[in-house]
Amino acid sequence: MTQLYDIAIIGGGINGCGIARDAAGRGMSVILAEMNDLGSGTSSWSTKLVHGGLRYLEYYEFRLVREALSEREVLWKLAPHIIRPQRFVLPHHTGLRPAWLLRLGLFLYDHIGGRKLLPPTRTLDLATDPTGIPLKPGMFHKGFEYSDCRVDDVRLVIANAQDADARGAVIRPRTKVVNAAREGDIWRVTFEHTKTGATETISARTLVNAAGPWVEDVLSTKIGMNAGAHVRLVQGAHIVVRKLYDHDRAYIFQNGDGRIIFAIPYEDDFTLIGTTDNDVHGDPAKVTATPGEIDYLCTAASEYFVKPVTRAQIVWTFAGVRPLYDDGASEAKSATRDYVFELDEKLGAAPLLSIFGGKITTYRRLSEAALAKLDGYLSPAGFKPWTSTAPLPGGDFDVEGLDTINARILASAPFLSASHARRLARTYGTRALFLLEGVHSTADLGRDFGATLSEVEVRYLVRHEWAQTAEDIVWRRTKLGLRLDRAQVDALTNWLETAGLSVSMV
Ligand code: FAD
Repeated sequence: MTQLYDIAIIGGGINGCGIARDAAGRGMSVILAEMNDLGSGTSSWSTKLVHGGLRYLEYYEFRLVREALSEREVLWKLAPHIIRPQRFVLPHHTGLRPAWLLRLGLFLYDHIGGRKLLPPTRTLDLATDPTGIPLKPGMFHKGFEYSDCRVDDVRLVIANAQDADARGAVIRPRTKVVNAAREGDIWRVTFEHTKTGATETISARTLVNAAGPWVEDVLSTKIGMNAGAHVRLVQGAHIVVRKLYDHDRAYIFQNGDGRIIFAIPYEDDFTLIGTTDNDVHGDPAKVTATPGEIDYLCTAASEYFVKPVTRAQIVWTFAGVRPLYDDGASEAKSATRDYVFELDEKLGAAPLLSIFGGKITTYRRLSEAALAKLDGYLSPAGFKPWTSTAPLPGGDFDVEGLDTINARILASAPFLSASHARRLARTYGTRALFLLEGVHSTADLGRDFGATLSEVEVRYLVRHEWAQTAEDIVWRRTKLGLRLDRAQVDALTNWLETAGLSVSMV
């Protein structure tokens, strides 16, 4: 007899994987299909912040900001290896937002989100503070320093998928939902394996459309329904340059056009600069940073830094599409960042829940709210939300304990360089110790692909994290693509094919 799942999820981004984890932990039977690699949609192209969103206060998004602010410390505790506090410096720019307005915004930021561990805002004299040194001399006197967190966005997706899998969910990357049809109180959902073309139809009591930018496309072309709500696709681009300064603070810069951009320390040796806000149409998978966006980011950052940011410094660019709920706002920058659900339910018919909008920061709360929407169809009575205190894989240690994990890695594998151990701690947390089981010498690490990427790590990623291609490994499971050259990536591709590992897991 074929299995009847409680919940089938379309989309393996942060929202789909977050819902899968939450539902599996409540004892539901769950299946998730992702048409590409997990986290390869919008969830890998973010600015990588777990943040309240200071800017959203200007649009009176108090509900969203409060929820997002309170999630910072919750998520930090669940995954302290991939989520860490980040201090931001906001230089006051004469002629843009007045200092009293910035102070008011930051007062709210400090107080409405239940902040306990993150340090509060302070005022800076940029003439004497080290964070003033990389900035144009004489232009910025006053600044404010406040707290948010940064996150490895794709690794957060993978951690949720891993935990969902460990709790019994079926996770199917590279599996496209090509059709979903209601048969009374059951959904029949047809999957197509993107590599082999093989199809399979599964049955589920409820269906969740977490397809991000594709949410409307899935509704119209796979389910044959028109959405009541609409998605507004807004592109955002980033540039990555060699590190622009030595201290550990990030900057938030105001632009003359009312937008803000960030310059954030990234992967030790780089600075991440972004982002833009432009309406787009067409296939969300095909967007790239346009020459206009790259120039915009270079120019905006150069307004502040003493050394201009030029195209020649760029080592990587990326762009993604925000699947925003279309609230009719005139400008892309002011469209709401909050999430909206559309629940399609009729008496005796299986329900469909579609998700519009959302942020990485609020995925856990969105997942709880999504399951609450489906409560009447699914949850055993009395089963409470549980994800706010259950660590994600690798994150089962104290928020201050990353150095201890690092030391444990070095104790178990003293032949690793300090930077290698540190990278493993920050990528895998306590799971690094599992990854290194049975490794007693450099030779045991197997083939060296460069930039400390070893055969042992690659095999771990294929076996335990659904990685199949070199791109999955060097741009999503890790960011070693910033350090490996073309020949090294090609060698990894060849090795995966020769070792027969590029088609495993599914
Ligand atoms: P996605 O991650 O896009 O997941 C949807 C998945 O559905 C995709 O992987 C897709 O392949 C899959 N799919 C589609 N159709 C099918 C099908 N037929 N069958 C199977 N699978 C299918 N948020 C923050 O909190 N902090 C930030 O700093 C931040 N910065 C951002 C910067 C930019 C430039 C952008 C674009 C977004 C940013 N966000 C940020 C927002 C955040 O990234 C998104 O809200 C979030 O990643 C959306 O996740 P998702 O799961 O809904 O969508």
